[in-house]
Amino acid sequence: MTGTATLGNFIGGELQEGGPGTIDLVSPVTEEVYGTSVDSGPEQVDVAFAAAKAAFGGWRDATPSERQLALIRIADAMEARADEFAALESRDTGKPLGSLVQDEILPSVDQIRFFAGAARNLEGLSAGEYLKDHTSFIRREPVGVIGQVTPWNYPLNMATWKFAPAIAAGNTIVLKPSETTPSSTLLLAEVAAEFLPAGVLNVITGGRETGAAMVDHRTPAMISITGSVRAGMAVARAASGDLKRVHLELGGKAPVIVFDDADLEAAAAGIVAAGYFNAGQDCTAATRILVQEGVHDEFVAALAEEARTHATTGAPDEDVMYGPVNNADQFARVAGFVDRLPDHARVETGGRRHGATGYFWDATIVSNLRQDDEAVQQEIFGPVQTVQRFRDEAQAIEWANDVQYGLASSVWTTDHGTAMRVSRALDFGCVWINTHIPIVAEMPHGGFKHSGYGKDLSAYGFEDYTRLKHVMSYIGA
Ligand code: NAD
Repeated sequence: MTGTATLGNFIGGELQEGGPGTIDLVSPVTEEVYGTSVDSGPEQVDVAFAAAKAAFGGWRDATPSERQLALIRIADAMEARADEFAALESRDTGKPLGSLVQDEILPSVDQIRFFAGAARNLEGLSAGEYLKDHTSFIRREPVGVIGQVTPWNYPLNMATWKFAPAIAAGNTIVLKPSETTPSSTLLLAEVAAEFLPAGVLNVITGGRETGAAMVDHRTPAMISITGSVRAGMAVARAASGDLKRVHLELGGKAPVIVFDDADLEAAAAGIVAAGYFNAGQDCTAATRILVQEGVHDEFVAALAEEARTHATTGAPDEDVMYGPVNNADQFARVAGFVDRLPDHARVETGGRRHGATGYFWDATIVSNLRQDDEAVQQEIFGPVQTVQRFRDEAQAIEWANDVQYGLASSVWTTDHGTAMRVSRALDFGCVWINTHIPIVAEMPHGGFKHSGYGKDLSAYGFEDYTRLKHVMSYIGA
């Protein structure tokens, strides 16, 4: 079928059509093909990196003030076209249109503005004489040309977390969005082109093989990827061939620990919102709920009621909490986890697809699970929450930490000491207390263990896109 959208690459400041093949764009709402994007091969990858390389010297030498201004103007232009970004994002993902500008487009704009400010605020040790007759100082430099790869769950937002700090620091980039959600990232490149020299931000489309060709290319000094653990490991292995830097934001399986003394009403509302927002396709989603035995039954009943009432799904023009799962493979993956639930599991609500067309799945809460069950150990990345009953603090911490992931977690209690002890003991890059999921530009986002290494957002994420040079000068005699 010939689609209505034909997307090209954006390289060297202009749209470039053509490539060895095309990829169909499929609506997760209707399951129909609505367009195609380029399936870029090694030639497109090469042309894109050549453009980024040619642009590097000039952009590295732009002053922080000039880089800041470019980013501020990009942010302003995105804000002015927020509805257009939302429409493309919703077409690729099926997300509810009513809340998309507020939930994702404007936060992206805000994060770009944060990195615009960061461009002028790099810090280091003060210059000084650390050896007699020698003055030392630190230079923070861009890493060089960078390859960046993003997933489909928050296409524009993930592109923002990658391009904004990299460009603020003076790098030039080739960015590949996910094969199922390239539209908003291509619009971003087009909007940004008005304010950036050609070749600073290049966007190429394609799937895994395109991403792998980027990692194999000799030009990038660093690869940054947000995606699955499998993809992250493949990138780290391939990048080791010539010791490229690697920045990995991978999967998660956030534990949510609810103690007997928690405010149960607030916890049920917060945990359902943080579990089903974006159809649970969030690496920090509140997926793995551990409830203390004193309030277990009461809390599970409240949680199921909250999910039935508020965790609603439907088409983008409906007033619902979340849209479909992004693609057919992911839909099959979610269904597979539910089909394979063990006999001892109890489905409290949901457990089935929603409607006959589209990749919609009802909010699903499964209780009575055990620590070694697949649904507890593996990332589902869909609208499914699991519940386990725990005895005491030690058991909650042991189970919470006993997964391969280490991205995000939360603890729900009214006791300050419990909150402090548990947040210290949790082996996750983020711990929320009596809340789950809010993200701010000023604070780092990133994991431990198989959730990867390297931070997004914050001054720490910004520093990840710089390299440190020591300059020492003999000043004696
Ligand atoms: P995915 O790993 O299949 O794909 C992610 C991106 O990597 C895509 O652009 C894909 O084309 C590319 N890719 C895949 N294999 C590659 C390879 N070998 N070399 C280079 N590129 C490759 O993941 P997905 O299904 O698109 O996204 C969902 C995953 O992303 C989930 O596991 C989720 O937890 C994770 N995620 C993590 C974060 C975070 O911040 N830690 C944020 C969002 C999503």
